[in-house]
Amino acid sequence: MHKEDFSRHAPSYYAASANPSPERPALAGKVRADVCVIGAGFTGISTALHLAEAGYKVVVLEAARVGWGASGRNGGQIVNSYSRDIDVIEARHGKEAAARLGAMAFEGGRIIRERIARYGIQCDLKDGNVFAAFTQKQLDELSAKKALWERYGHTGIRMVDKAGMRGIVDSDAYCGALLDTWGGHLHPLNLVLGEAAAFESLGGVICETSPVTALVEGEKVRVRTAHGEVEADFAVVAGNAYLGNLIPRLAEKTLPCGTQVVTTAPLDPALARSLLPGDNCVEDCNFLLDYYRLTADNRLLYGGGTVYGARDPGEIESLIRPKLEKTFPQLAGVKIDYTWTGNFSLTLSRLPQAGRIGRNVYYSQGCSGHGVTYTHLAGRLLSEAIRGQNERFDAFAALPHYPFPGGRLLRVPMLTLGAWWYGVRDKVGV
Ligand SMILES: Cc1cc2nc3c(=O)[nH]c(=O)nc-3n(C[C@H](O)[C@H](O)[C@H](O)COP(=O)(O)OP(=O)(O)OC[C@H]3O[C@@H](n4cnc5c(N)ncnc54)[C@H](O)[C@@H]3O)c2cc1C
Repeated sequence: MHKEDFSRHAPSYYAASANPSPERPALAGKVRADVCVIGAGFTGISTALHLAEAGYKVVVLEAARVGWGASGRNGGQIVNSYSRDIDVIEARHGKEAAARLGAMAFEGGRIIRERIARYGIQCDLKDGNVFAAFTQKQLDELSAKKALWERYGHTGIRMVDKAGMRGIVDSDAYCGALLDTWGGHLHPLNLVLGEAAAFESLGGVICETSPVTALVEGEKVRVRTAHGEVEADFAVVAGNAYLGNLIPRLAEKTLPCGTQVVTTAPLDPALARSLLPGDNCVEDCNFLLDYYRLTADNRLLYGGGTVYGARDPGEIESLIRPKLEKTFPQLAGVKIDYTWTGNFSLTLSRLPQAGRIGRNVYYSQGCSGHGVTYTHLAGRLLSEAIRGQNERFDAFAALPHYPFPGGRLLRVPMLTLGAWWYGVRDKVGV
């Protein structure tokens, strides 16, 4: 297992093609703020930017670099709704909860597009994401998802049949798909770097290489690092899968999971276009899913492994290449330029967890694999709550947060077993 370097972004296609961004000094000494945010991923920076726009003085403390965590390493897919959809929320938590959360299910994607347009962020945004089905059962489920989303006001989705699939993905693997034109894809590291620059342009402060070592609750929250302290009226904990055990009661409710990504060498533009003629991003319908898209410079970026318990997989290429070549046999032997792994945070319900600790410490975590849109929504909701508008934040906070059975020690073995079971289920199609 190699040790992570906190002073640089993990080596990846994204780090190699990142827009220029300054290195920010670490926190030193005592600083006062209205709000201190822990973590400079989408959740933290989105919250900070909303608050700065509302005139708040915000300091963001980041253990490594802006976008160093999942936000700067992910598949870049703008996927609407939540990791568990609105029908599951209705079945488990009732019609009222479903109506409240359903009303926000497409807002994250809109926030991203607003940010990009307002601040002129260069991050290769493209419209359209595809959910691809291997089986008729999965296709029927996608049809039900379409009807469900339409009930919540989504007017930009259509089913694609087997014949139509060639216009979407040049692969024999699928029997049909759902195309969401309100979804899309982008360069996630450049998005978060652009949002961070927007935040700083409004007077916001980001301290990098500043891991928070203690959070002391009270009338004023004190957030400590090795060389400094921020005293603030509110704190927002946005460390997600990388938070570790800073706040044990948050750690016990999520499981950090590793997922792996590769990026090919640039492909001939005609070959690249033939793979994904609509230039949409694709994720399949398996529980342990594959996800892929083209980058702006015609590489295929392909993710898929799910190594539970945040283990470093050593040989990522050998894990992902077979999946990539199964989907696209025409790419057999293609050169892989980049491989990397990143952690997302899984919850038992696979719904995100947002809430308060005491009066003035807020958190959001556990996007369970689909966080690009939710984290942008969460940033807006956290900022609303800090400004005293609690209703929409409380719709999420009211969802139960289950600890993993067996506690910390059993979480990894249980989920490894779970991953094995879901892998079998995907293979036999039950
Ligand atoms: C490989 C991969 C592919 C994915 N693909 C997709 C996708 O295509 N679409 C999608 O919707 N979702 C995807 N996800 C999930 C998505 O990336 C995450 O849900 C989302 O980025 C989480 O954002 P975040 O800001 O909450 O957490 P992060 O981006 O992980 O940020 C947390 C930050 O907090 C910092 N931090 C932690 N502890 C401390 C501390 N004590 N002090 C200071 N700072 C601290 C970390 O250094 C980190 O920078 C993927 C995730 C991974 C890993």
